[in-house]
Amino acid sequence: MDHDLRKKYFEELEKELQELIDPETGWLNWRYAELIPCPLCGEATNCHEKLFIKNGYAFVRCMQCGLIFTNPQVKTDFLKELYGKSRATDIWVEIQESSQEQAWKKDYYLENINLIIKYCPGRVCRLLDIGCSSGYFLQLVENYFNDKIKAVGIELNEKAVSYALSKGLQVRKCLLEDLPKEEKYDIFTLFGLIEHLPSPKPFLEQIKEHANPGAVILVIVPNAYSLYHLFLQQKSVSFDGRNHLLYFSEDTIKKLFRDTGHEVLYFDTILTGLDNIKRTMQWYDPYDVSIKTEKYIPLSMITMLNEDYIYQNNLGLRLRLLARIAG
Ligand SMILES: [Zn+2]
Repeated sequence: MDHDLRKKYFEELEKELQELIDPETGWLNWRYAELIPCPLCGEATNCHEKLFIKNGYAFVRCMQCGLIFTNPQVKTDFLKELYGKSRATDIWVEIQESSQEQAWKKDYYLENINLIIKYCPGRVCRLLDIGCSSGYFLQLVENYFNDKIKAVGIELNEKAVSYALSKGLQVRKCLLEDLPKEEKYDIFTLFGLIEHLPSPKPFLEQIKEHANPGAVILVIVPNAYSLYHLFLQQKSVSFDGRNHLLYFSEDTIKKLFRDTGHEVLYFDTILTGLDNIKRTMQWYDPYDVSIKTEKYIPLSMITMLNEDYIYQNNLGLRLRLLARIAG
């Protein structure tokens, strides 16, 4: 079941990605795309080094700040429309509802809530989960931390929102910019969101407008320099060109927060075990334990690359950053 759903997801995603390609040139169609300056430091295109082209989407690195991003990039207005009606995203939401997916995500989310609580004001906090999908994280907050945190979410995908509402969660189908100005929060969580944003800086400025004094923000994004990415490079499914627009390193994610005036309180990389790398590599069947790790990683490296080494060298699958929001 899970295998079939994942297979369907990748087939749909590939179809959707190809719908934006000009059949004449094999490149992203200019009707849907535009050239942009670096979204992190503003450097013009002559400062962007071409890294590779994958399925018609071009990936560059800014030689000024080091950010990797897609350029030309899919136009913002078109993206908004696309997220609301993407067939692939609908299937992704179904996958998020599977018991196997939720089994590993439970520990992952609970660990993150415990980290947030260490940096929170003592009072009962209001939390906003931005891009909350079908609300599994919100559900865990409600089940385990109801006495400390009152959590709500916003999400663009209609199917995800209806799942969340059917569980009795407080989720709205809207963007951050649609929230009333007087709505304030103490905690913001962004799991796998910032890499989808064409303009992350204005977004982080917007968050300030909804922050109570002392509020914190937790951000998790794919690590452009994870061991997994160093193994697979452009073959990684993370480099799709339309959903993921930005690819951060430790330096560039910290720069994004510091440049927007936020105080970085905590940073590390997560999902640091080889089992996580293996699960990501066997993408159609992430939970099949019968497949040996040696199929993906040479035995000599398995011995050398233990979890401590991966953690200490920031090679985990995702970057995690917690910051105090500028007052
Ligand atoms: Zn730059």
